[in-house]
Amino acid sequence: MISHKIVLHFPTRIVNKPIVSKLIRDYDLEFNILKAQIIPDAEGLMVLELKGKQEEYDRGIKYLKDSGVIIDALSQNVLRNEQRCTHCGACVTICPTGAFELNTTTRKISFIDKKCIACGLCLKGCPPRAMEVRF
Ligand code: SF4
Ligand code: SF4
Repeated sequence: MISHKIVLHFPTRIVNKPIVSKLIRDYDLEFNILKAQIIPDAEGLMVLELKGKQEEYDRGIKYLKDSGVIIDALSQNVLRNEQRCTHCGACVTICPTGAFELNTTTRKISFIDKKCIACGLCLKGCPPRAMEVRF
């Protein structure tokens, strides 16, 4: 069983098609929608966690790509601007998934992008606006 968090971009020409419902119906995958922004006749975006056997996952991803969906790994979209980060630690308590960790020796804050679900809370909570989400 594997699990991946991915970002799906739906170009305008396919945003009204039932692509995700077919993915869930025809492929043996568990899914969890973490964020969705689908507006009829405009570009759409969905952050999805997909779980299943590697073979089914690969088939599902191929189906999405063949349908015209553009896929990114989630970690490619949430970034920390290292020049701006002051290691103040505010994000450690804000983040619901524990994607920030304090190193008690150096007092520096690490950002573990694999834990991020792109909820966006740290964007507003970071005083120097060091966190960026690029979709
Ligand atoms: S809240 Fe912003 S500045 Fe403070 S540690 Fe987190 S990312 Fe860095
Ligand atoms: S976007 Fe949400 S989950 Fe990701 S690092 Fe920021 S607070 Fe954590």
